[in-house]
Amino acid sequence: MPNGNRSLNLFFSKNNFLGSFNDIYKIPNADLPECCFVGRSNVGKSSIINAITKTKKLAKISKTPGRTQSANLFEINKTVNIVDLPGYGYARVSKNTREQLSNLIESYISNRDNLIKIFILIDCKVGIKNSDIDIFDFVASSNKNFSIVLTKIDKCSTDFIKKQMGSIVTLMKNYKKNFMDIFASSSKKNNGILDIQKDIFNLSKHYEI
Ligand code: GDP
Repeated sequence: MPNGNRSLNLFFSKNNFLGSFNDIYKIPNADLPECCFVGRSNVGKSSIINAITKTKKLAKISKTPGRTQSANLFEINKTVNIVDLPGYGYARVSKNTREQLSNLIESYISNRDNLIKIFILIDCKVGIKNSDIDIFDFVASSNKNFSIVLTKIDKCSTDFIKKQMGSIVTLMKNYKKNFMDIFASSSKKNNGILDIQKDIFNLSKHYEI
């Protein structure tokens, strides 16, 4: 385990973009442990990937037109992969596009064997929506482990954050087998980022192909 914040930042700053994929079977690097980030559009996914990797480069790639609806693969320190999945729950895209996006997300989650942790992002102020429940259900039925990242906590009072965490933890009783952890985060204030970095770093330790 690197010793503290600085070493972790160094670990995460050694990153490479390996490509955008619409066909999940074409995603390379299947021999490394992998985590992915998924959440409703505007949940703060790009900002948190920036905060974790201490670079604006990775999330900028994911925001490039043509790449927002693909799975974007980043390799960290030649040790662990981060996959940025398309946002779901868009109000403005067509039914057809919505279906394509959820097909990509679902086929990735159920078929990617080296995927060992899914971070599902929830905006603290917005809370859990039906589309989030659909993802929890799908992830659980695929027998994958997930953690929840509450985002943008700087916009909420301490009391509200506590209540939101409490109600999510209660809901998670339905997902006992697959729910691992909940992180309260703010990319703006750098809250919770170190804990998420540690979690991702630790993925590499218990992984055998
Ligand atoms: P994405 O669409 O999920 O990738 O979300 P973005 O990272 O682009 O963020 C969406 C909006 O939320 C932007 O206006 C960000 O500036 C804002 N945002 C993201 N993270 C935070 C945060 O931690 N705190 C606050 N206050 N705003 C945030």
